[in-house]
Amino acid sequence: MWQVEASGGGLVTALEPVLRQKGGLWIGWPGVYEDGGLEQALAAKGVEAGYALKGVNLTEEEVGDYYYGFSNEILWPLFHDLQNLCNFDPAYWNVYKEVNAKFAQVIARNVSRLDYIWVQDYHLLLVAKELRNLKVRNKTGFFLHTPFPPLDIFLKLPWRRQVLQAMMEYDLLGFQTARDRNNFLQCVESLIKGVQHDARRQVSTIARPERELKVGSFPISIDFGQFARDASQELVAQRAWDLCQAVPDRQIILGVDRLDYSKGLPQKLQAFRYALEQYTDLQEKVTLVQVVVPSREDIPEYQELREEVEGLVSEINGRFSRWAWVPVHYMYRNLPRMELLAYYRAAAIALVTPLKDGMNLVAKEYCAANVDRNGVLILSEFAGAAVQLRGGSLLVNPYDVESTAQAIYQAFIMNTNERRSRMKRLRSSIRARDIYWWVDFFLREARVT
Ligand code: ADP
Repeated sequence: MWQVEASGGGLVTALEPVLRQKGGLWIGWPGVYEDGGLEQALAAKGVEAGYALKGVNLTEEEVGDYYYGFSNEILWPLFHDLQNLCNFDPAYWNVYKEVNAKFAQVIARNVSRLDYIWVQDYHLLLVAKELRNLKVRNKTGFFLHTPFPPLDIFLKLPWRRQVLQAMMEYDLLGFQTARDRNNFLQCVESLIKGVQHDARRQVSTIARPERELKVGSFPISIDFGQFARDASQELVAQRAWDLCQAVPDRQIILGVDRLDYSKGLPQKLQAFRYALEQYTDLQEKVTLVQVVVPSREDIPEYQELREEVEGLVSEINGRFSRWAWVPVHYMYRNLPRMELLAYYRAAAIALVTPLKDGMNLVAKEYCAANVDRNGVLILSEFAGAAVQLRGGSLLVNPYDVESTAQAIYQAFIMNTNERRSRMKRLRSSIRARDIYWWVDFFLREARVT
C-alpha cells in the first residue's frame, strides 16, 4: 500500500499551491523503483490534491547517472559556480539524454493539443528538444530554479553547445534574476553563431529563422498569504512563545538550510564563531538554532559537508558553552510545517547566507511568517532573493566572515522601530510579488492566459 507525499525543497513549495489552484497534470519521477499499484495511488492522491499526477518510471541505474550524476554532480555545482566539485563523467551525459527522452515520451502520451507544457528545472533541460523529435507541437516553457552561471564557468561543461541548443528549443525560458538571464544570453552569443537578441526588456526575444524564443527573468516566490495565515494560528503562536521562553532574555538567530555546499553552512558557522569572539556581549545573549535538512545523502561531498558542519558545531559549543547556555542548537532533520513556522516566528534574526542560490525561499518564508514584524533578515548578496529584498534586509558577502559577524551584531542591537520598518518593507514587497504573481507573469509572457 503506497502513501504518496510531496518531496521537500523550494520547487515543490512554490508550485504546489499554483497547481492546486489552477489544476493540471504534474509529471515527475515518483521517487521509488517498484511501481506495483503506484499508478492508482497517484491517481487517488491527485483527486485529493486537485491536480493529476503521473509518474515517469526510472531504474536505479538511471537515477544514479541521471539524477545523482549529471544533474547533481555536474549541473548543480556548475550552475552554483563550484566547478571544482563537478564530476564530468561522460556516462552521465548519455543517461541524462535518455532520461530526458523518457520524460518527453510520457509527456507526449499525456498531453492534449492545447495543453501548455511547463518544464521545471535543471534536470530536464533537453525535454523540449526531445518533444520536437516526437513531433509534439504544443507550446513549451522552461523555468530554471537555480542560478545560470557566467560564460567562463559555463564553458567548462563538455556538452555546453548541445545543452544551449536544446534549451533554445523551448518557446519561453525563465530565469530567477536578470543576472542569470544575462549570463545565459552571453553564453548563447558566444557559443551559437548568428543569434540576435534584444536585451533591454525584462523579457527579451531571440529571433530565429523558424520561430521566436523569449528569455526573461521571473523571480519565484511563495504563497505569502498562506504563510502569514498559518503563522498567525494559535497553535503556532503558542509554540513560538514556548521556544522563546526556553531561552529567556536571549535572541534566537535562525538558520534553515538543506544540507548543501551552496548554502555556505561552514562559512556561516565561522562567522557566528567570529561574532562570539569579537562582540563578547553576544555571549549568553544569542542562540543560533541551525536546522539542516538532509539532502542527497548518497553523494560523498554531502557526507563530507555534514561532517564538517557537525565538527564546527561541536567546536563552537565546546569552546563557548556556559552553564544553561549552548550557543548552537543543531537539528539535522525535516521539521513538520507548523514547527518550522514556530521557529520562523520565534526568531529575532534569520541568518540566510548561501554562497549562491537561485532564489532562496527560506528568506521569503521567514518574512511572511514574521507576523509580529520584529525580526531582522540577514541575507547573502548572492541569493536571487537579494535583488528584491535588499531594501529591508542586512546584505552580506557570505565569504566575508568579519562583515557577516558585524551584521549579526548590528541585527542584535537593532532597535524595535528600525526592525519594524525594515520588516514592513520586506513583507509588502513579498506580498506584492507572491507565487500567484509569478505564475501569472510567466504564463502571460507564454501567452497562455
Ligand atoms: P532549496 O530549494 O535549495 O532547498 P529554498 O530556500 O529555496 O532552498 O527552499 C527550501 C524549502 O524547504 C523551503 O520551502 C522550506 O520551507 C523547506 N524547508 C526548509 N527546511 C525545512 C525543514 N526542516 N523541514 C521541512 N521543510 C523545510
